Amino acid sequence: MNAGFVAGVDIGGSKALAVVVDDANRVLGQVRLPTRLGAAGVVATAAEAVRQACEMAGATPAGLSAVGVGIPGLVHPSNGSVSHAVNLDLGADPVDLGAALQRELGVPVSVENDVNAVAVGAHRLAGAPRKDLAVLSIGTGLAAGIVVDGSLHRGSRGAAGEVGHIPVDPVGRWCSCGQRGCLETIASGSALSAAWQAPLDDGTTVWSAASAGDETAQAAVRSFGAGVAAAVRLLVLAWDVEHVVLAGGVTEVGQPMLDVVRAELVAAEQGSAFLVAMRLAERVSLLPSQSPVAAVGAAVLARDVLLAEGTALPGTAVRELSQ
Ligand SMILES: [Zn+2]
Repeated sequence: MNAGFVAGVDIGGSKALAVVVDDANRVLGQVRLPTRLGAAGVVATAAEAVRQACEMAGATPAGLSAVGVGIPGLVHPSNGSVSHAVNLDLGADPVDLGAALQRELGVPVSVENDVNAVAVGAHRLAGAPRKDLAVLSIGTGLAAGIVVDGSLHRGSRGAAGEVGHIPVDPVGRWCSCGQRGCLETIASGSALSAAWQAPLDDGTTVWSAASAGDETAQAAVRSFGAGVAAAVRLLVLAWDVEHVVLAGGVTEVGQPMLDVVRAELVAAEQGSAFLVAMRLAERVSLLPSQSPVAAVGAAVLARDVLLAEGTALPGTAVRELSQ
């Protein structure tokens, strides 16, 4: 079954990135726009980004098979609603983003949590697409998206991947979720910022201070790296994913962060032949910066929904898919 062109939109607090991809996930059009906040602003931004990406791709929104959206917050993929996306000015009342965008563009729209969209995009764009993969998104908070056997794993209540709220230190700091010593209180941008006792306006500050020999910065970076390493270990031991891809705002510093995490993984191997055999340091990588992974992942998920609906038709699309 040929799904045709699909669009994907990655909506972040400051920018929205839309792509139009073909059946082979080749990006034919790509547009980045500043995000307008609030329910109406988010819908208008997404619609405009899709229109402009279509124009670049030589297509029209009406000619798309589907549109997928990746967005932070609490997402209900079943009805396309979003709530609790603080950076987008979306509060506790669910916003029917999928339905509103569908009215704007006239094509089916599916909505997914942004970390899940990154995981699916990273999985499809990876060289070895059949490998299991997890994305560990390190921003203000900490969360993972998990692809197992080629499919996104959401869990029975959509909470799969909420590794940031696994308590690891019974006497640790209180977490925003109400528990104590969550991984997120050690391995997140806000944790790093708190340990460095300086605002993390420019993600490199604590890293450059650490490399310049500042002991507080070095301790902050080490503690953060150990926390990320613990999250990586957890994802591999729980799911045996082949790759753990580090993503999110804090990873924009790049190689220095990867080096710290790998060093902590190797340090933890001392005296444990079991962990040595897991080869954790080899499994960790960084999401390539400036790559439209989340938007492509959202597009892929939209296509998957379309194809899954196609398979519900007795006998037709199923056979086309298997050929
Ligand atoms: Zn927590």
